[in-house]
Amino acid sequence: MPADALPPFSLTAHPAPRTPDERAVLMENPGFGRVFTDHMVTLRWREGEGWQDGRVEPHGPFKLDPACAVLHYAQEIFEGLKAYRFDDGALALFRPERNAARFRDSARRLAMPELPDELFLGSLEALVKADRDWVPGGDGSLYLRPFMFASEAFLGVRPASEFIYCLIACPVGAYFKGGVKAVSLWVSEDFTRAAPGGTGAAKCGGNYAASLIAQAQAIEHGCDQVVFLDAAEHAYVEELGGMNIFYVMDDGSLVTPPIGGTILPGITRESIIALARDEGRQVEERRYRFDEWRADAASGRLREAFACGTAAVVTPIGQVRSASGDFTIGNGSGGTVTDSLRARLTGIQRGQVADPFGWVRRIG
Ligand SMILES: *Cc1c(COP(=O)(O)O)cnc(C)c1O
Repeated sequence: MPADALPPFSLTAHPAPRTPDERAVLMENPGFGRVFTDHMVTLRWREGEGWQDGRVEPHGPFKLDPACAVLHYAQEIFEGLKAYRFDDGALALFRPERNAARFRDSARRLAMPELPDELFLGSLEALVKADRDWVPGGDGSLYLRPFMFASEAFLGVRPASEFIYCLIACPVGAYFKGGVKAVSLWVSEDFTRAAPGGTGAAKCGGNYAASLIAQAQAIEHGCDQVVFLDAAEHAYVEELGGMNIFYVMDDGSLVTPPIGGTILPGITRESIIALARDEGRQVEERRYRFDEWRADAASGRLREAFACGTAAVVTPIGQVRSASGDFTIGNGSGGTVTDSLRARLTGIQRGQVADPFGWVRRIG
């Protein structure tokens, strides 16, 4: 086995990787999700045989039968996390074992085989090592996208008997060039993201497909992002299309909706709760009504609100718009609690501040 491959992944090096000059041009302004590294990881699962055929190979298209189950019934899950290049040149991941666990949880909900953590974590390490030159320094990072889909060619409705796990990666620049800007949210009162008993807590592509129309309405109303209410009463604020939400109260405490099946258990959310409690802040995980939000913003009891997730980390919420009227949070441009939580979290992720929880995992 070539020196660069980790068992059980064999390495087929790209025959014509991008040159250092080509890579430098691509990494100058990569945006998000359009520029990919030279390699990918694939693993296959077959009923009765288990996981096999792990490979690091050139990034490239799949050849799929048109009857491939995922194309019809959307049996698909994914993850998202980042690799960072520290100032001393070391490469590191942030809490990847939490993504591995969530990937197994999502797989169970979608009736898919669970990928063992050592294979999930091994695939991350194998790809980051193979494409180490693609990990940006400074404020950039390498976004890692693990995913798994039903690859069996069969139109019957049942869990598939064959799956492909794949890991691809794309360099991303600083999410906010020239400072963090507060976002505006559109409250969707027509569409919901997740219902009790549904797939809201699983990271599956279908949740995103169902949220796109609401996001399009947010854009039509001049907002950056959509925020969803609960499906049963349309009264409680749940989360954005792909980010969790926090409220900062006038006593310095935080409020965030509880995990309970309809909210995606974000690793950024979990980390913010731990950091805030570590700083002596009270964090309440409780349901928060849309009318409460409006009243607290008006009275000044609510000082700040922010959205959080791997891609944008921590983003202040400035304006909230809805069919029943608009309101502004604080001065409309964020606040000091949001800023300090973001600074501490990104500092830990980049190896620049102390990591008391042991969240950072260095890659050799
Ligand atoms: C991925 C995701 C999040 C954020 O999760 P992180 O682990 O913090 O990146 C929040 N909401 C939804 C719907 C998601 O898919």
